[in-house]
Amino acid sequence: MSSAYVRLRSALYRPWLLATIAAVGCAVLLLSASFGLVVHQVQQTEIEQMNARGERFLNRLEQIFGQLRESVDLLDEQALRGCNPAMITALQQVGFDNRFVYDAAYNDGQQRCSSRPGESDGSELRAPDIKGPTYSYWLNTTTQPDDNLAALRLGRGPFTVSTSRGHLTDVVDLAPGGSLLVVLDRGKRAVPVLGPVQPWPPTRDWPPPSQQPLVVTRDNLVYRMFTKSPDYQLVLIAPRTSLLPKMNGALWALFPASLLLAWSVGWMVLQLVRERRSLSAELQGALRRNELKVLYQPIFDLTSRRCVGAEALVRWRRPDGTLTSPDLFIPMAENTGQIREITDFVLQQLLEQLGQLLRANPHLYISVNLAACDVMVPRIGRVVARLLAQHRVAAHQIAFEVTERGLIDVVVARDNLQALRDVGHQVLIDDFGTGYCSLAYLQTLPVDCLKIDKAFIDALGHDAASSGVAPHIIRMAHALQLRVIAEGIELEAQALLLTSEGVNYGQGWLFAHPLNAHQFTELVTRGRRLAGRRIDDEA
Ligand code: C2E
Ligand code: CA
Ligand code: CA
Repeated sequence: MSSAYVRLRSALYRPWLLATIAAVGCAVLLLSASFGLVVHQVQQTEIEQMNARGERFLNRLEQIFGQLRESVDLLDEQALRGCNPAMITALQQVGFDNRFVYDAAYNDGQQRCSSRPGESDGSELRAPDIKGPTYSYWLNTTTQPDDNLAALRLGRGPFTVSTSRGHLTDVVDLAPGGSLLVVLDRGKRAVPVLGPVQPWPPTRDWPPPSQQPLVVTRDNLVYRMFTKSPDYQLVLIAPRTSLLPKMNGALWALFPASLLLAWSVGWMVLQLVRERRSLSAELQGALRRNELKVLYQPIFDLTSRRCVGAEALVRWRRPDGTLTSPDLFIPMAENTGQIREITDFVLQQLLEQLGQLLRANPHLYISVNLAACDVMVPRIGRVVARLLAQHRVAAHQIAFEVTERGLIDVVVARDNLQALRDVGHQVLIDDFGTGYCSLAYLQTLPVDCLKIDKAFIDALGHDAASSGVAPHIIRMAHALQLRVIAEGIELEAQALLLTSEGVNYGQGWLFAHPLNAHQFTELVTRGRRLAGRRIDDEA
């Protein structure tokens, strides 16, 4: 966290700006999510429709080929050969008897005739698309968009029978521009049975390796229907533009809903920030009206149980007597930059209240919590130097606690912390173990002491999973020749366990609650141990 970042955070801390950012961010997120959802749903529908079309088509194809086979078998089995009136009658009879037969034709190489003289006599037939041992197949014998033209033709011996395009299209409602293709030669060739000729293959690496039936290309949706025969596959192609109109309707419904939700989020952020802002304005007044107080939570030598120092903790008691937790106003003050004023206030108060005590007890120290923005600039060094000189207190009697959160820009923090150490202050890492300060970072930081977070102390003797963490931190600190302070000790058993692990110092309700300056002075001068009541509530 650099000073630029801290400045940016203060600059961004404006209700309307934050609300707008939240609303726009939310709108973008919701709209893209809605769009993704709609595309997904439309594609799902498309897949289902294509699947249904494919199945209908396969069924119809089976019916048609069944009739065509029966008809051509019948013609081939009868004795008539050559083109004569009897042959024409026979061919026409086949057409009458079979619904799907559009045209029956005879062609022995010399003579050609058909049940529909003048329309098609089979004379212009190209080589069959599929040539089997008994039957030959022509898949699309015409490219004319007329429903009644022959689309499929089946041949046996000199006879061929065909079905009309209409018998296929009445079950398959192809999308405009779409085609139904039979893919032959292991994916290399595709013949349209319905619809226009399509560029083939539809993708460079056709057939695709996946078993997914739907393949989405830049322009088309390609739906593969796997048949039992390895010789051919059926493919439906629909242009992708057909997605758009379908999407439009769904998007129109989601668009206002997303905007409404985004607006609500923005409004809520506005209220929240205004609330915090009013808290920040109140805090400003509290600083002016002297509503902030500093308490001191004693720190003890765990073996001798003597008080060696204290941690300065700020309190905000409003005129009506209510106490606002520092956990609530300190993070807000960090955002608004008011924390600098608080830090200065704490330093000033502690030296005014305890200056004499510190001068009389040169080994006693008070540690002060620093926020990230205090660590990122050298300002605090100048402030404390002026106050120390004014109160004639030694620099080693003021320690500074920095959290791992405040050490994001380690390089900048390192220089400022080193400067504080150079003049004699101690530097402590607070809440150790809850952040992301790695061992490698720790080694490079100018630090004297680690404060183990209360969460790890709480777990001692209770939670098997995390109770192992504190001893690890202690061993690590010792290996790095750092002192350890355990915070939040509430039970004697915890104090004993920590002592046996080699922890020298501790603070917590077992020994004392945060005390006001008078109580703390008494504790030090008379060596009294206070416990039990939360004395800070009376501050
Ligand atoms: P912190 O620095 O970790 O302070 C220790 C907190 O633990 C204090 O809460 C203290 O009253 C509490 N505590 C100490 N012993 C025990 C115990 O045995 N049991 C329990 N349950 N709690 C214990 P407090 O005073 O409410 O402060 C909360 C946090 O507010 C502090 O955590 C610190 O991060 C911040 N804070 C307080 N004063 C200042 C300040 O002057 N400047 C800055 N920058 N932050 C401050
Ligand atoms: Ca602290
Ligand atoms: Ca702490």
